[in-house]
Amino acid sequence: MGASGSRPVVQIVTAHQQKEGAGFVVRRPVPTHGLEHIDPFLMLDEVGPVTYAPGAAIGAPDHPHRGFQTVSYILSGQKLHEDSTGKTQLIGPGDVQWMTAGAGIVHSELPGPTFKSTGGLAHGFQIWVNLPTRDKYATPGYQYIHANDIPKAVSTDGRIDITVIAGEAFGVTASIGTYTPIWLQDWRMQPGATAQIETDSSFNVAAYVFEGEVRFGPDETPVTRGQMAVMGNGSQLQVNTDPKATVSRLLLLAGAPLNEPVARYGPFVMNTQEELVAAVQDYQAGRMGTIVRE
Ligand code: MN
Repeated sequence: MGASGSRPVVQIVTAHQQKEGAGFVVRRPVPTHGLEHIDPFLMLDEVGPVTYAPGAAIGAPDHPHRGFQTVSYILSGQKLHEDSTGKTQLIGPGDVQWMTAGAGIVHSELPGPTFKSTGGLAHGFQIWVNLPTRDKYATPGYQYIHANDIPKAVSTDGRIDITVIAGEAFGVTASIGTYTPIWLQDWRMQPGATAQIETDSSFNVAAYVFEGEVRFGPDETPVTRGQMAVMGNGSQLQVNTDPKATVSRLLLLAGAPLNEPVARYGPFVMNTQEELVAAVQDYQAGRMGTIVRE
């Protein structure tokens, strides 16, 4: 840590596909064999793209979380969130929900009623962000930002449009609040785009390419759709795209590592096994609440 210069690519992970919730397919570059987490990022799922017939869309019915945050970023489709604090939220294309499970929450993540009936293209992301020990029992809740209200940045060369969900890019700062320094950004790169940005040398940095191909680092290492590049030490990140290629898109994940023990069991992420046992007991005893529906 603390190295200066351009960060090299030190690992490329090809996302494996698996089923989640009621059986929808996700691409998951982390956690995967050889990459347990990218501290403080615990998980990245690309959900879809999948096209549903009318009435066929599925999601994740009532389930708990404790000890971390879940971030939903919808590209296409519509999600209906309901939770044990009594809140209901429709999350549409371009919208972000940044949820703090903290001490414990039960929620459902199902297709929105309109999307369920019409069907169509579902595509998006779910990211799990760890909480530091001191905040693992924070009050559960969420921040919701409509697509139009998420700050947008443009690269110096004018060829990269950036949705700044968290952190900062080209002088634009996100509106969402995080417990520890986190960057989460959607970069849409035109052919022949190039950028070099400062990334705090203490940060862990990774990028998941979900369209086209992007080259990273001093060696211009190519990373293609469905792959995540994990960067090594340095203080800058270099990216570019082929002038003859098509539009490329990536999700940039960067943040200060917590450097704390990670104990995970399904929907719970704590520091110790004892805390996981307590989480299961508290959930089973109903101490994380239930979703009350009319
Ligand atoms: Mn969930």
